[in-house]
Amino acid sequence: MTERVDIAVIGGGPAGAAAGIAAAQAGLRVVVLEKSERGRDKICGDGLTPRAVAAMDRLGVPLDGAHRIGGLRMVAGRQVRELPWPSGGRFPDHGAVWPRRRLDAALIDAAAAAGADVRFGVEAEPVIDDGRVVGVSTPSGRIDADMVVIAAGAPGKIARMLGAERVADEPFGLAIRAYAETPRHGEDMLEACLTLRDASGTPVPGYGWMFPCGDGTVNIGVGALSTMRGFKSLNLNNLLDAYRDLVIDSWSLGEYLERPRAWRLPMSVQRRHGPGWVAIGDAAGLVNPMNGEGIDYGLESGMAAVDAFMGGVDTAPARYDAEIGAKFDSFLRTGRRFAFLIGHPRILRSGLRVAVGTQAVANITLQVMGNLVDADTPGAGGRVMRLADRTLAAADPLLRRTRAAA
Ligand SMILES: Cc1cc2nc3c(=O)[nH]c(=O)nc-3n(C[C@H](O)[C@H](O)[C@H](O)COP(=O)(O)OP(=O)(O)OC[C@H]3O[C@@H](n4cnc5c(N)ncnc54)[C@H](O)[C@@H]3O)c2cc1C
Repeated sequence: MTERVDIAVIGGGPAGAAAGIAAAQAGLRVVVLEKSERGRDKICGDGLTPRAVAAMDRLGVPLDGAHRIGGLRMVAGRQVRELPWPSGGRFPDHGAVWPRRRLDAALIDAAAAAGADVRFGVEAEPVIDDGRVVGVSTPSGRIDADMVVIAAGAPGKIARMLGAERVADEPFGLAIRAYAETPRHGEDMLEACLTLRDASGTPVPGYGWMFPCGDGTVNIGVGALSTMRGFKSLNLNNLLDAYRDLVIDSWSLGEYLERPRAWRLPMSVQRRHGPGWVAIGDAAGLVNPMNGEGIDYGLESGMAAVDAFMGGVDTAPARYDAEIGAKFDSFLRTGRRFAFLIGHPRILRSGLRVAVGTQAVANITLQVMGNLVDADTPGAGGRVMRLADRTLAAADPLLRRTRAAA
């Protein structure tokens, strides 16, 4: 017998869980299908921006057990700046670090508690009938749905089925992380080192991070953008080891507690909606190209998909797309163009001097690094991004022609 729901969600990461919570809270019949088991890990830095904290609050999921973070320490060579998260704005004045095994379990448990039908160990695919997604297929049968929410993470097989893959010539990122013991695990600052170098000494557009977990360990990782020259041959394990050598003494760092693992950071998508479906979170390419963070966008887009559904089933995908586009597209587009720019080592070096050189510019960098900027951002951060959008738009053809990657 075919089951029937209002919304079927494929993927039970932060984005899918958020959609599940919001749909259940709205009184909808919603099923969330997750191919892994409860408590699965996700390769991640585990950092929750103040924006993510606000989204967790909207979803009603307490941050019990998360390690509270008050700001960001930016390190560029010998320059170090400690910047508290801004207060009095649209977002709380704190973030958190919450290892993904625990964060994702808390979110998916909240979805089940709100009334979503959460099923683990179920791999699902959209069912397409005459160009419209009409439900999902699972090994144990078909579930019809008025809307299918694709929350399956970085684009793969499902994205290929729906034409929702990464845009081939847009930047993307790769990042690797591990855990290690440190006596500084209880610090309340994220640390980001902006001056990474590859084996040949070339500056890498990306950063190394130390995100203290408050449980005796720190999440240590590095990420790099595809726009750098030599990206295809970049060895992330070596880059991580080089970064570890930099911080080993100051953090009294122990051995890696598990083998370092890497994953993709999708930063664009060909389409994020179609008849009967929407994509959210990483499946929609919603990752900030300037810091690789996407948990907050995943949570927000999950809620936005359900809001759109509540406004009318047939027009929901298009309205979802328009809302997400109005909020994030210009910022993310600017971020991707910026990624082309900093792919050039010289521009990267001088850009870094500016980024942390003065308090005022460092504050704007902080807003960008904290995912605090979008189309609604008031003040200097918003003005700078709008100006950058216009300026880099004019330079776009040149940026693509002169891209550093090879
Ligand atoms: C090394 C690294 C560090 C990062 N650090 C940070 C950070 O510190 N802060 C931050 O905000 N972001 C960070 N990110 C990005 C962040 O991890 C993602 O943006 C976030 O996980 C997106 O959530 P999601 O729910 O969209 O996707 P995911 O978390 O990837 O969840 C997708 C889920 O879908 C399931 N799934 C896939 N296919 C199917 C299927 N066919 N059927 C059923 N289930 C399926 C998967 O098992 C998975 O559980 C980092 C990424 C990397 C790679």
